[in-house]
Parts: sequence; structure tokens; C-alpha cells
Amino acid sequence: YRAKRTGERHIIYDPGMQTFREEHLSLLGDLQQAVEHNQLTLYYQPKVNLATGRADEAEALVRWIHPDKGFIPPGEFVPFAEQTGYIREVTRWVLAHAIATAGAWALAGRPVKLSVNLATRDLLDRDLPSLVAELLEQASLSPDYLCLEITESGLMADPAKALAVLQQLRAMGLSIAIDDYGTGYSSLAYIRRLPVTELKIDRAFMIELVHNDSDRQIVRSTVELGHRLGLKVVAEGVEDHATVALLRAMGCDQVQGYVFAKPMPAEDFIRWREALDARNLSADALSPSP
Ligand code: C2E
Ligand code: MG
Ligand code: MG
Ligand code: MG
Repeated sequence: YRAKRTGERHIIYDPGMQTFREEHLSLLGDLQQAVEHNQLTLYYQPKVNLATGRADEAEALVRWIHPDKGFIPPGEFVPFAEQTGYIREVTRWVLAHAIATAGAWALAGRPVKLSVNLATRDLLDRDLPSLVAELLEQASLSPDYLCLEITESGLMADPAKALAVLQQLRAMGLSIAIDDYGTGYSSLAYIRRLPVTELKIDRAFMIELVHNDSDRQIVRSTVELGHRLGLKVVAEGVEDHATVALLRAMGCDQVQGYVFAKPMPAEDFIRWREALDARNLSADALSPSP
């Protein structure tokens, strides 16, 4: 207790820290404004099915359009929002908008299954399942069209609490993906005990996949083991066609990456997908052998 008090006094009298806290507070204020005044927006990146060549799924990725600072990517404010606890509001904004958008697309007759990223803290929010249920209801969206992405570290913060929240979400019929898979320390033996439906293999394994034998062995066995455990397997961050062809030969289910499209505003995503449909490509044409 004494150490903590000393620490607080230290912070109060350190002029550098004071500036830091002020900047922090003003950024937090800005973020609150952003959520309240819709300065956040969602971009959509297609997940392309390697068996059909279609893009019936996409990941929703948040962006902050700051009135003075311009475009702020999530890597620069999501960690800050987590530290300050404000992530709860950001997640709620993202869920509300993603679910409303997926609802509108389904109603228009061409549904898209959307993936939404959750932060570590979100998994400790016992109110999350009922919030999601309410939003699905408002948007008349079936839970079949929503996937929540979590990370291994998100599970480790408080595994028992996270498991309880995940089980409720899964019981509602949502899909659950492990994001950035392979960068943490959890084994598939641990993951198979969780109510997970999908593995997203991290981009780190895609960069050298064509040339690096050990990356190839890891990805190949992850795809196989994932399938044996009944999981869908997605490769993220794929930038070239040679890698797509290799992943397809390995039986990987979906690819998400710049090779097909960058994340884009909703209208652009819809147009992109219409163009893909119009070309009516077979999956073979989508990933020509190198
Ligand atoms: P993530 O969930 O792993 O999302 C994939 C990131 O990789 C995205 O970055 C995407 O733009 C990028 N990416 C996709 N394909 C490629 C590629 O081929 N090459 C390269 N170099 N990058 C690619 P983004 O949108 O900047 O998001 C970064 C991270 O921020 C996300 O990683 C996720 O952890 C977090 N994030 C994004 N949106 C949200 C959100 O709504 N809520 C929360 N809690 N976190 C979010
Ligand atoms: Mg993700
Ligand atoms: Mg990822
Ligand atoms: Mg990532």
C-alpha cells in the first residue's frame, strides 16, 4: 500500500508524467467523442473460400477518423482503449454497427457472415452475451452470420470467466475464431476444450510459406489437425497467388489477405463482391498454380 502511495505521489510531481496524463486524458476524451459522434467506421476485408472461389464472409475492422489527426488505425487506439477500460464502449459500437450492417445485407438477399474482433477485456464482460442477443434481435440477424474473433492472450487473462462467456456465445449459435493462431503458447490440445469453431493462422506463417520448409510443415499440420478437430481453418495476411495455391493444396478453407483485397468501406466491399460474382470464377481460376 505504501509503495502504491509513493508511486502516486511520484506521478503527481513528475512534470513529464503530468503531460503524459493530460495527453492521455485528452485522447480518452477524443475517443469518447468518436464513439458518441460516429467518428469510428468499419472497413470490411473479404475471406475468400478456396473451394468455391466465393467471398461469403468478411472481417469487420475498426478505423477512427479523427477530426484533426485524420485516419487512426486500430493498432494505435485499441491498446489505449484497453488500458483505459474504454474498450467496452468501442466494442459495443463495433458490434452494433457490424450486426446492423450484416442484418441489412441479409435482408437485401445477399448475406455476408461477419467476423468481429473482441479485446481481452471483452471476454470478462458478463453482459456481452445478452448485448449480442439483443443486437441480433434488433437487426433480425441469424447468429449463423456472426463470428467473434478472440486471441489466445484474451483467454489467458481469466480462463474460467472467459470460458463461461464463450460458452454462452457459442450456445447462442455464434461462431468463435482464434485469431493470430500460432503466435501464442496454447496448444490445440487446450483449444479443443474451448467452444471454438475456427482457427485463423497468423500472417507470420504466410510471409515465407512458399520458401520456408518449417513454416510449411507447421501450417500443413495445423490445417490437418484443425480439420480433425472439426475446426474451419483460415489463413490471414496472404499477399501472393503462389501462397494461395499452396494453401489450397493443403486443404485450407479460406484466405484473407491483400492478394484478394484490402479492408474497404462497406459500399466498396459490396461492389468488389458483385464484381467477383459477375466474373463467376471457378476456385481454380482464383488461385492459378504458379
Ligand atoms: P487482426 O484481427 O489480426 O486483423 C488483421 C489485420 O491484418 C488488419 O489490420 C488487416 O488490415 C491486416 N491485413 C489483412 N491482410 C493483410 C495482408 O495481406 N498483409 C498485411 N501486411 N496485412 C494484412 P488492421 O485493420 O490495422 O487491424 C489490426 C488489428 O487491430 C487487428 O488484427 C485486431 O487485432 C485489431 N482490431 C481491428 N479492428 C478491431 C475491433 O473492431 N475491435 C478490436 N478489439 N480490435 C480490432
Ligand atoms: Mg481479427
Ligand atoms: Mg489476425
Ligand atoms: Mg493480428
